[in-house]
Amino acid sequence: MEQGSWNQWVEDALTKLESLKVLRSLRPIYLSTEQQSRSQEPRANDEEYQVFDEMQAWDRSSVEVSISEPTFQRWLHDIPSSGDEIVVRDGVADGKVGSGEMQQFRRLLLFSGNDYLGLSSHPTIRNAAAKAAREHGMGPRGSALVCGYTNYHRLLESCLADLKKKEDCLLCPTGFAANMALMVAIGSVGSLLARGQKPLKEEKVAIFSDALNHASIIDGIHLVERRGSVEVFVYRHCDMFHLDALLSTCRVKKKVVVTDSLFSMDGDFAPIVELAKLRKKHGFLLVIDDAHGTFVCGKRGGGVAEKFNCEKDVDLCVGTLSKAAGCHGGFIACRNHVQMQFRPEI
Ligand code: PMP
Repeated sequence: MEQGSWNQWVEDALTKLESLKVLRSLRPIYLSTEQQSRSQEPRANDEEYQVFDEMQAWDRSSVEVSISEPTFQRWLHDIPSSGDEIVVRDGVADGKVGSGEMQQFRRLLLFSGNDYLGLSSHPTIRNAAAKAAREHGMGPRGSALVCGYTNYHRLLESCLADLKKKEDCLLCPTGFAANMALMVAIGSVGSLLARGQKPLKEEKVAIFSDALNHASIIDGIHLVERRGSVEVFVYRHCDMFHLDALLSTCRVKKKVVVTDSLFSMDGDFAPIVELAKLRKKHGFLLVIDDAHGTFVCGKRGGGVAEKFNCEKDVDLCVGTLSKAAGCHGGFIACRNHVQMQFRPEI
């Protein structure tokens, strides 16, 4: 099977969408910094980047938390919490239950967070976020297809595409949403190219998914599975013999392999070099969820594919900005720029 077949299928699916008149183009809006900032309150000191040689107080804030003694006991004994047993007013913490009483607090160091570089509390990030809110307000004011897509979104997309060495990128509200959207889009290729109302078995898309993939991939697959356009095969965690065997016996032509690149629970890497070899052998579309590798793996922070020198073998790369980037949002970086045709210039 030629890898190029997927390009053709995607192009055919887009042509079908166009003929159905359901393709929507973005309507990019230009936000001018000059114009906005002139009418606003005085700008805070917005130095471009601040670099610190030593650990600073805010570095601790991403890992150091205070929790009340009753909450701590709940954590220890795995007792569910309503989330409102602790309320902080005017810097004084008191319990809702029996308020007025002073509560004991414990300081904990969290090793379970994803703020790998401590950037969520870095002054440059804080200042940039505050500056953006000062100049442009909050919220997108509409979905990307209506009026919520701006020159800043496009700029971020092209920076992320560069980071991932891909031609294009699509921003999503979260990494979770990115995986859901991508699985649904991939599955839709099966239904769009079906000759009849429902795709026959051989017209479907076969999705091969690692057993320990993130919940958002699994939810996305379940969503598209219910529509009847995909066949799903779950292979044993990182087991390339199992995957190879499943691929070899599968008669469906449109194959996709999806895997976390760096698994959140076990902390192990997907065998990306072996996956690249299997991709050449079977011609599947390789999708990685690089949520944990982006900005921390590889020399440029390009992620797990960069670390293992496999960027060219990855067709689609999902990422999140809520972990090492210390912000919020998700994205899908992709190999070819079929979707570019439908994006107007800003
Ligand atoms: N993929 C993986 C592997 C993740 O660990 C997570 C977050 N736990 C996500 C996707 C979702 O990212 P976000 O927080 O941006 O929704």
